Amino acid sequence: MDHAEIGSMGARAISEGIASKEFSAREVTEATYARIERLEPAIHAFNQLTPDLAMSAADRIDALVAAGGPLPPLAGVPAGIKDNMNLVGTRTTCGARMLEDYDSVYDCTAVRRLLDAGALPVGKCNMDEFAFGSSTENSAFGPTRNPWDLERVPGGSSGGSAAAVAAGMVTIALGSDTGGSIRQPGALTGTVAMKPTYGRVSRYGLVAFASSLDQIGPFSRSVEDSALVCNAIAGKDPFDATSVDTLVGDYTANLRSGVEGMRVGIVRDMLDLEGCDPEVREATVAAAQLLAEQGALVDEVDLPTSRHGLAAYYVIGPAEASSNLARFDGIRYGRRSPGAEDVVDLYMRSRAEGFGAETIRRIMLGTYTLSAGYYDAYYGQAQKARTLIAREFAEAFQRFDVLLTPTSPTVAFKLGERAKSPVAMYLSDVYTVPLNLAGLPGVSVPTALAPSSGLPIGVQVVADHFDEATMFRAAFALESSAGFVCTPARE
Ligand code: GLN
Repeated sequence: MDHAEIGSMGARAISEGIASKEFSAREVTEATYARIERLEPAIHAFNQLTPDLAMSAADRIDALVAAGGPLPPLAGVPAGIKDNMNLVGTRTTCGARMLEDYDSVYDCTAVRRLLDAGALPVGKCNMDEFAFGSSTENSAFGPTRNPWDLERVPGGSSGGSAAAVAAGMVTIALGSDTGGSIRQPGALTGTVAMKPTYGRVSRYGLVAFASSLDQIGPFSRSVEDSALVCNAIAGKDPFDATSVDTLVGDYTANLRSGVEGMRVGIVRDMLDLEGCDPEVREATVAAAQLLAEQGALVDEVDLPTSRHGLAAYYVIGPAEASSNLARFDGIRYGRRSPGAEDVVDLYMRSRAEGFGAETIRRIMLGTYTLSAGYYDAYYGQAQKARTLIAREFAEAFQRFDVLLTPTSPTVAFKLGERAKSPVAMYLSDVYTVPLNLAGLPGVSVPTALAPSSGLPIGVQVVADHFDEATMFRAAFALESSAGFVCTPARE
């Protein structure tokens, strides 16, 4: 097996090839690192490579094959893990100086489940510091580049996971999504990127950003692989009280059932938002058309309150983040500044040295909006907007099975282009944050290349709470009819 071959294979083909002894898991691992050796220097998708962990996982799979035993569903599938999820034997840096040397002391449940399903832990993927950002330029360890165009960002904050999958350095990867950090980089890299319903996947072992919004989900190059990863990671976890035991089905079971009679709402007023690129708009309309041609009942719907999601998110997100990040004080975790005078000085120095500009901005925004005099005006208002947005979606789901919106208002932008303006960066999330606020599942499906730039465009398929099965069914129909293949120029 050579590196180009593994770079274009899907999860099922890999595990079936191993089961039928066409190749071994060890060969898959070797081909994977050979590919990484070629591509990683230009892309920088990883903060840490873990060949020893991957090799021993591969050896366990090969031993199972030799013993003739049944293989787990993701046997020998190379996987990337966002660097805010703990895995013993790796550092968990969150892309931050603060946690540069932090060794994981236990396993994140979602990662554990992925590895128990047979996936190979290839490395920890780069990300915006503490997951604050939409471009991966906020990583303390340097940006990740988009495999489609190395002068452009891969999106963020899970940009390393997205770029690694797009470039074929891994088959699947885990990301986290608080306001769009899986789906937006998915759109910008031409990968399938999915955020489950809030509560569907445990966050135990994920470094918290905003606990009422955070979810873990997969990147892949096909909808089927996305469903396979969801099968592995979903379900109740006693270590995360917000995880629910609503039945987890086999998300691959009905992928091919088609969309005949499915009620699809295209969110018209979101297409008209200022800043939405006409090519993105057209691709979204074309996606609805593709579903209609397969028998879906497509109609228009307006979600006028959801446009205020961005403003509400950038109050609620920083408020929760400022509270969650209080634990990084130079004593309990990570960086401890040497030579401090006293404990207050130690806090101040450690935090000033360990946090980058965007993290400091979020903490300041959050402490401001939570402060006594402003709490009602900002945090209270934002929570009310959140309730209205959730209600607006609930009404829409009485009429529709799935909704379609763009994932990102634009294709991948140039490195540095939005780095100077936090607001320009925040606007990347306008289509993704409403789902986090309402707790809904969504998947970005790459459907087209923008005619003017040749860069991928993603369409977001949204379903009602815990209805990932219907979401995947629509996404699969879209993927099959759009005929998009993830092949960035990457050699
Ligand atoms: N881009 C958004 C932000 O900066 C979302 C980040 C995320 O989902 N982690 O907050």
